Amino acid sequence: MSSIADNIESVTRRIQKATLQAGREPGSVRLLAVSKTRPPEDLLAATQAGQMAFGENYVQEALDKMTALNAVEGIEWHFIGPIQSNKTRQIAESFSWVHSVDRLKIARRLSEQRPKSLGPLNLCLQVNVNSEDTKSGCSLAELPELAAAIGELPNLNLRGLMAIPDPDQSEAELRKSFRQLANALTDLKEKYPEAGQFDTLSMGMSDDLEAAIAEGATWVRVGSALFGNRPTKQSQS
Ligand SMILES: *Cc1c(COP(=O)(O)O)cnc(C)c1O
Repeated sequence: MSSIADNIESVTRRIQKATLQAGREPGSVRLLAVSKTRPPEDLLAATQAGQMAFGENYVQEALDKMTALNAVEGIEWHFIGPIQSNKTRQIAESFSWVHSVDRLKIARRLSEQRPKSLGPLNLCLQVNVNSEDTKSGCSLAELPELAAAIGELPNLNLRGLMAIPDPDQSEAELRKSFRQLANALTDLKEKYPEAGQFDTLSMGMSDDLEAAIAEGATWVRVGSALFGNRPTKQSQS
């Protein structure tokens, strides 16, 4: 079994190679270590190998890990799971980034509840690029209005878009899904330049990060390739 440090090294090499092949600037793609269901010891091992950005899906589980790791300086916490409105305060108070906002009500609450002392919360809108599935995310059609409205909220920094395309697509279809997200970001940047920074595409996971990088990903969210396969779904909080 390979260690977490070895896995970070090999995923980093995959990212570098794909970035180079896409003719993109070295360092323009960052690795988000998706640590849901993993114990704090695994995150600690990752930090010791220099990995400081972590993505979590469940609020209470994440808060427990923040407490366990509070002696480690420089960790950046990203929330990437579905958001219930009764969890927005904890998210606004404890995370640097949220990738999974798909409705205005949640964005409003995050803006209201974000402590001013922390500065704006970095936010990505989650888009459902394969509309036949039922996963969370707004539609491409809803996106412009939603982005414009979020641009008005004071304590948020709208950074860009996130998607989880249907993994059971052909390579060509996956590429097309990632490209749709990239095109949607370009459109927003042109039409609503004041609404956000629009410098972020959160797309690509363990099995498809190369395709996502070829289409412009700036964060790849990688879990199992770093930490091994997850146990079958446990109770969520
Ligand atoms: C679990 C998860 C990932 C990581 O998936 P892997 O296939 O393990 O790399 C990425 N993004 C989101 C939103 C997730 O929930």
